[in-house]
Amino acid sequence: MIDIKKIRSDFPILSRKINGKDLVYFDNAATSQTPKQVIDVIVDYYTRLNSNIHRGVHKLSQEATDAYEKARVKIQKHFNVAKSCQIIFTAGTTESINLVASGYSKFLKSDDELIISALEHHSNIVPWQMLCEKTGAILKVIPMSLDGTLDMNTFYNLLSSKTKLVFVNHVSNALGTVNPIEDIIIKAHEYGAKVLVDGAQACPHIKPDLQALDVDFYVTSAHKLCGPTGVGMLYGKLELLKSLPPYQGGGEMISTVTFEKTTYADLPHKFEAGTPNIAGGIAFGAALDYMNSIGFDNIAEYENELLNYATNALKKIDGIKIYGEVKNKTAVISFNIKGIHPYDIGSILDQLGIAVRTGHHCAQPIMDFFAIPGTVRASFSFYNTFVEIDRFVEAVNKAATMLK
Ligand SMILES: *Cc1c(COP(=O)(O)O)cnc(C)c1O
Repeated sequence: MIDIKKIRSDFPILSRKINGKDLVYFDNAATSQTPKQVIDVIVDYYTRLNSNIHRGVHKLSQEATDAYEKARVKIQKHFNVAKSCQIIFTAGTTESINLVASGYSKFLKSDDELIISALEHHSNIVPWQMLCEKTGAILKVIPMSLDGTLDMNTFYNLLSSKTKLVFVNHVSNALGTVNPIEDIIIKAHEYGAKVLVDGAQACPHIKPDLQALDVDFYVTSAHKLCGPTGVGMLYGKLELLKSLPPYQGGGEMISTVTFEKTTYADLPHKFEAGTPNIAGGIAFGAALDYMNSIGFDNIAEYENELLNYATNALKKIDGIKIYGEVKNKTAVISFNIKGIHPYDIGSILDQLGIAVRTGHHCAQPIMDFFAIPGTVRASFSFYNTFVEIDRFVEAVNKAATMLK
């Protein structure tokens, strides 16, 4: 059960007024809000622990290193990963994907094939296009269907012994569709292809078991699951992380440096050049603690109720079209109202204190597929309420009337 009053009191920002109205924050798929339990950890870090990690013999450095490495273990446990060195701290999903894509240039030759889905965020498209340009590998796309799901039969036909990598998001940020990654992983492995799953949009709602999934790489960002911006993770299978070359050179990632030859540090440090976002890493761990204290089953159940309630209410509005209405989706509603530009609806909602996202949501191919410039996207979190949805639906109604 969700104790909504208690939960909302954990998020200071939720009591803000916007344009004289109580803030309604429905842009959770872009970034989540931060509870005071996580803010306190960041303040505490700079108040009591601030120093560089892994280098100093002094007490502060030891304590900071300890807290940072404890966070890594928390992340390892949360995702049921065998060894903590398989969790690489990065700046977020985007950097994690770039790290893998950049390293893969070592393994690819021209005519190798990579498979991507039509539902991807730009950050899971562009790094692979750059990799293809560099190596001559070919990018194939799993098409989507009108309901926002992937066309799996075409995917099975795209797979061949030429396929080296498949990358797909766990949940689509633009539509909320939960993709059948279990099936994708099993089928790709039958051809010896590796799979990278972009979990940025899934991890705020689902607790994935990475060993059970048998996924090769899994990436996510902290800022979508109640953590701070600028930190995230890359999970990889041990032998893959060992064979992948370092991403950046610098301090912390070496074993020995001479001008003749440098040897690299062991995992995870090989991929963690330079001073990391120490406070961010520690806060990432605290954010997982916070979400686990509420419980992912409770979160999923409550968000699903919010989703159904909002979907039913919105559907009563004249001329509304919701994109990607499938059973298995997270609490995201992407919609348009006939004859009205999504940006205009977003602006009126903003005047009424309601934050939604409008535009292509970094997923332009999906918008092209529906032949629209963009959508209005409302995305809910476990700290949102039914009363907020009532206000939102009333505001959308008002906008529709004003703009018609
Ligand atoms: C947000 C998001 C990203 C990008 O995450 P960053 O934190 O901006 O690097 C990538 N993929 C999906 C599905 C997302 O929702």
